[in-house]
Amino acid sequence: MIWDPFYECMDPEERAELQVRRLRETVARLNVNVPWYRDRFAEAGVAPEDIRSLDDLRRLPFTTKDDLRDTYPFGLFAVPPEECVRIHASSGTTGKPVIAGYAREDINIWAETIARTIACGGGSSHDVLHNAYGYGLFTGGLGLHYGGELMGCLVIPASGGNTERQLMLMQDLGSTILCCTPSYALTIVDTAEEIGIDPGTLSLKSGLFGAEPWSEGTRETIEERLGLSAHDIYGLTEVIGPGVAAECEAKAGLHVFDDHFIPEVIDPDTGEPLPPGESGELVFTCITKRAFPIIRFRTRDITRLDVEPCECGRTQPRMERITGRTDDMLIIRGVNVFPSQIEEVLLQIEGLEPHYQLVLTREGRLDNLRIEVEVSPATFSDEVRKLEALEEGIRERVSSALGIRVDVKLVEPKTIERSIGKAKRVIDMREEA
Ligand code: ADP
Ligand code: ZN
Repeated sequence: MIWDPFYECMDPEERAELQVRRLRETVARLNVNVPWYRDRFAEAGVAPEDIRSLDDLRRLPFTTKDDLRDTYPFGLFAVPPEECVRIHASSGTTGKPVIAGYAREDINIWAETIARTIACGGGSSHDVLHNAYGYGLFTGGLGLHYGGELMGCLVIPASGGNTERQLMLMQDLGSTILCCTPSYALTIVDTAEEIGIDPGTLSLKSGLFGAEPWSEGTRETIEERLGLSAHDIYGLTEVIGPGVAAECEAKAGLHVFDDHFIPEVIDPDTGEPLPPGESGELVFTCITKRAFPIIRFRTRDITRLDVEPCECGRTQPRMERITGRTDDMLIIRGVNVFPSQIEEVLLQIEGLEPHYQLVLTREGRLDNLRIEVEVSPATFSDEVRKLEALEEGIRERVSSALGIRVDVKLVEPKTIERSIGKAKRVIDMREEA
């Protein structure tokens, strides 16, 4: 099912006209209501009436995470805070959280884009939607919640944690859709095995997983062990929360709901827009929001866009799964490394579990990366010699994939801390050294 065929399957040229009109209106409103944007537009020498085509988007200034911190808390709001009905904050993966405000219309838009997301994952009003994203300031919980209700699903607001009880609820209530971070899905898999729940006794058919990078290997593991179809969903607080882009049944990229959020991919060094197919930093402009419409927000997420038609019938452009963010890129002895590249390699190796940690240390002036990865219980009972050979094999494969030498340490099953929200994969001990 497509939730809103009018917009999701719109003729791209018609949609471009709609986007330009909405963009011009948004810029005009910001120009009147937000002094910070008024100054930036003036500096860039651009007035609302200059926005005549989508190409004019590039004349607008970028907004960065630092700008949000500098104008904290209400400096970029386009309405007085009392006209808002809700606040959310980013999870602060990379520092002090930033907040976003929502007027009632924004909450409605959000519920719509989440309903589209659920439909992308094969959901309908008949589904029981088990929502294990955290409720609170984090956008995951309430975001999925309101969209699920709009869709007409039976929503179970489980939030994160107490995994055994979550499994019991899923069993008893016949949950058909699971929503959580991919790393928490792995925790659920683990716990189910531990307490002897056969995933076959669950009614799950689909999963909506996002909020952190994950690999194709993790997808396979989750799909196989929970017996569902796993869909990647994407979003960020500054733009609205989840519900910015979602993977349809074709699983060939995530459709961006660009009648609300215009995506661009830019060269992160020069700021120049890149054509479809080229990989760079994702940038979003909100063109329908009332309280907090952000202009050319630099997400720091790396992806590329695909504007070719999709077999599902939706015409909205697709973004490739996020391979990492510029700020979780590790620079090890001058080489750029994303944790997701390492995950990709690890999950292709027999005998390993999808639980790992990257420990960075500094020895003298040299950075050192140690990968700690859990072995499966069956492998763990092998002879020491075999384990050593496995360790050596991993070292070779990862080192050749990354182009730098890494250390590998196999650890016992269930020793790496399980995640209930976004997983913390990197432990950087270089500061202390
Ligand atoms: P924070 O930046 O503090 O983590 P958010 O909670 O708003 O703030 O999370 C948004 C970020 O989460 C995105 O910018 C992106 O880096 C990451 N993210 C969200 N969905 C996905 C996804 N499907 N794949 C990879 N990364 C994702
Ligand atoms: Zn599609």
